[in-house]
Amino acid sequence: MSISENCLRKYAELIVRTGANVRPGQVVLLTIGVEQHEFAALLMEECYKAGAKKVNVDWTFDVQKRLNFLYAGQDVLSEVLPWEEAKLKQMVEDLPCRIFIVSEDPDAMNGVDPHKLSGVMQARGTVIKPYRNAIEGKHQWVIAAYPSQKWAAKCFPDDEHAVDKLWDAILKTVRVTEDNDPVAEWKKHTDFIENRAAWLNEQGFSSLHYSSENGTDFSVSLIPGAKWEGAGDINSQNGAFYIPNMPTEEIFTSPIAGQCEGTLVAVKPLSWNSQLIEDFSITFKNGRAVSCRAAKGQELLERMIRMDDGAAMLGEVALVPKESPVNQCGFLFYETLFDENACCHCALGMGFKEVLPGGDDMTMEQAQEHGINDSIIHVDFMVGADDLSIDGIRPDGTVIPIFRNGTWA
Ligand code: ZN
Repeated sequence: MSISENCLRKYAELIVRTGANVRPGQVVLLTIGVEQHEFAALLMEECYKAGAKKVNVDWTFDVQKRLNFLYAGQDVLSEVLPWEEAKLKQMVEDLPCRIFIVSEDPDAMNGVDPHKLSGVMQARGTVIKPYRNAIEGKHQWVIAAYPSQKWAAKCFPDDEHAVDKLWDAILKTVRVTEDNDPVAEWKKHTDFIENRAAWLNEQGFSSLHYSSENGTDFSVSLIPGAKWEGAGDINSQNGAFYIPNMPTEEIFTSPIAGQCEGTLVAVKPLSWNSQLIEDFSITFKNGRAVSCRAAKGQELLERMIRMDDGAAMLGEVALVPKESPVNQCGFLFYETLFDENACCHCALGMGFKEVLPGGDDMTMEQAQEHGINDSIIHVDFMVGADDLSIDGIRPDGTVIPIFRNGTWA
């Protein structure tokens, strides 16, 4: 590993201070792979320096997950055990500041029956969801990445410098260099995103229209009064500003569930449940995905759309210009945290209730009445073609160009 001690320390500090914004007296829950134990120690130290009361670590190990899926029964894996539920209950009580470090091998679940994977996810998701809903908007969280050997090898096959290359790319996208001040860089970056979001909010668009040469021709209705958001979020319990994703380039909102028409053509492969769906498109009628076709992963895509009632409807539309540093890296990361920040995307499944005025204090059921979609899945797929045009349509019918040729008009 060739990343310098200096950069690593700056990165850890950025995640804790700017990303999670750990406040004095807070409990922190760090979720990280066992192989990244040295980085875990660095993060713990930064959390305590920021005043954390206690730092707990949830260790993940993708080999353990793989072996369990290969050898244990679906019914066994589907069960959420009482101690796991006790932990979730404790989390609702503590509202810990959560830090997730992703580093998984994208191929970790190769050879595992996809039906078993999605079946277990469906069963566990149903039990876990109410706890997830109970903490939403009420705690700070951040997802950042650390390159593992296997992840790097997937991005750069047969390259002995794979890990270094993935490090370079990650540091570029999170704006850390040997001699810059990443905290100041992030302030500039989040200000830019927030200005764009403010402009979109002033326009009050009631719908968007997407078109591009590849066959994308799609209209979607927006929720009146729902906000466009980007970069940061505020914990409604303590007012702390935090940045949920590092990197982040997107400005997003949740459209009206069940009100869209037309076809979206994906411009990048989608990695779902550790498997790839390639060269695909999804066609919507009356707001629901009614058909899809994929050169690879057709059955997987169909299964995804049928996960539950909300899985066939959109939960998110997001704007990302094609000049995004993630896109400039020019390779697929096999990790949504990065790939969704490459260009414009939409997501099937759960929407974000916090985009509604007063949404933080709503239950998911209340948010659904206002048009927010609910589902156990939230899967982003990229539609930002180089020639993508997006128009915003105001309630009086005025058409305003938002994107031209894949970037801000
Ligand atoms: Zn997104």
